[in-house]
Amino acid sequence: MSSDRAKARTETVEEVRERLGETFESGRTTNVVWRERQLKAVITLVEKHEKELTEAMAADLGKPAFEGWLTDLLTTRDEAKYALKHLDDWMKATKHAVPSVAQPGKAWTQSQPLGTVLVIAPWNYPVQLLLSPLVGALAAGNTVVLKPSELAPATSAVLAELVPQHLDPDAVAVVEGGVDVTTELLDQPWDHILFTGSTRVGQVVMEAAAKHLTPVTLELGGKSPTIVAGDADLKVAARRIAWAKWLNAGQTCVAPDYVLVEEHVADTFTRHVVEELASVRDRAEPTSIVNSSHLARLEGLLDGHGGEELLPRKVDADSRTFAPVVVREPDLDSPLMQEEIFGPILPIVSVESVADAVKFVNKRPRPLALYVFSESGDTSSDVLWRTTSGSACVNHAVYQVAIPSMPFGGVGPSGMGAYHGKAGFDTFSHTKSILRRPTKGDMKVAYAPYSGMVQKVMRMVTRWPSR
Ligand code: NAD
Repeated sequence: MSSDRAKARTETVEEVRERLGETFESGRTTNVVWRERQLKAVITLVEKHEKELTEAMAADLGKPAFEGWLTDLLTTRDEAKYALKHLDDWMKATKHAVPSVAQPGKAWTQSQPLGTVLVIAPWNYPVQLLLSPLVGALAAGNTVVLKPSELAPATSAVLAELVPQHLDPDAVAVVEGGVDVTTELLDQPWDHILFTGSTRVGQVVMEAAAKHLTPVTLELGGKSPTIVAGDADLKVAARRIAWAKWLNAGQTCVAPDYVLVEEHVADTFTRHVVEELASVRDRAEPTSIVNSSHLARLEGLLDGHGGEELLPRKVDADSRTFAPVVVREPDLDSPLMQEEIFGPILPIVSVESVADAVKFVNKRPRPLALYVFSESGDTSSDVLWRTTSGSACVNHAVYQVAIPSMPFGGVGPSGMGAYHGKAGFDTFSHTKSILRRPTKGDMKVAYAPYSGMVQKVMRMVTRWPSR
């Protein structure tokens, strides 16, 4: 164990926050060279330790090495590379016009780091969802406490070992632990909290943050709908939806949760999707369900859904693998259609028209993502305008989160705030408005009591209509 990790363990969370707060106060994190060095260190960390990190994710989640590389390491590296490339621009001050009342003077806005921030991550993409927010926080010049998920313990341990080896150990600290440790962390007065996880725990985080009026970014979950219009390329739609549902065994916040398909193509689409999932379930190495209670939760969702199950159930308690299941026309008030599935079960619901699918979506909480499959630009555009979701993708799923320049976040119960690219920099920055006025030529007449002449001139220069 490195001495830094030992140090982190012997400190209380308050001491860790104070130590990082002192580093922030020293001013070194505002320096662009420091920020660049940290971003390069994130790149080195994921590139150099690909083996340890993918092995840890395999130990925690049975994640195949290539998927771990693709979804966690490559995404993190690209996030850091993008920030490095644009950092100078993001840090530049923006000039503002000065109205006549405040003349003479120069006005500008400047992004400033918030201070010492807390990042809390879930287990499903345990590297990406911890280190990508870190990129935004470091680019903005903050000191950062990282809380990896206790449900991915091997990855948490590897990150706790590697982070202090690569990053400034007095500016970035990993605090490992479960709910008790998170609760202790949430008692502290942070300058910002970015939480990724469930809507339920998001409420806990926001309540705790409210005590200190700490601003929060909440990256939450929910049921992301997928609309398949009658004119969609049904084969391609089925392949892509099956891929997105099966990725990480469905344990993806932006996974298509359920499908709404126009009824005249529902049989054909269902046949294609069943074929796709049947072929991947035999071919691909399955990612495990994170733990036995989530496995039991998924089995529970299959009880009492009232629909027709296509593809036989295949659950292995030892390896915690759960083969994909398609459920045709489940009861809409069954838990399967009420709760976020977060596993490889795909409900398919027929609707009369795309307009009905839109009504269906709008009656439910605003989702993190929405997918629409259609060959018509008008249809997809109409769906996008009439629904509200954190993000959306037309004719594919999940990939919208891999565009480093686009903000990623939810809306309403699926989250608040965003990160990735400049949005991450902005999330962890305060935009300070600054006015500088010269002292030379100061005129006493500009102060109260205002003479009649001054009042007249002020009305004239501000183009106030004469009475
Ligand atoms: P979770 O909410 O159970 O846990 C997330 C974090 O919160 C963990 O670090 C955990 O230690 C902590 N935590 C758990 N219970 C707590 C409590 N009572 N008090 C304080 N802290 C607590 O989420 P999870 O099971 O790790 O992840 C799955 C959820 O996360 C799903 O709902 C999924 O949609 C969502 N998610 C969202 C995104 C996104 O980017 N929007 C990404 C991945 C996952």
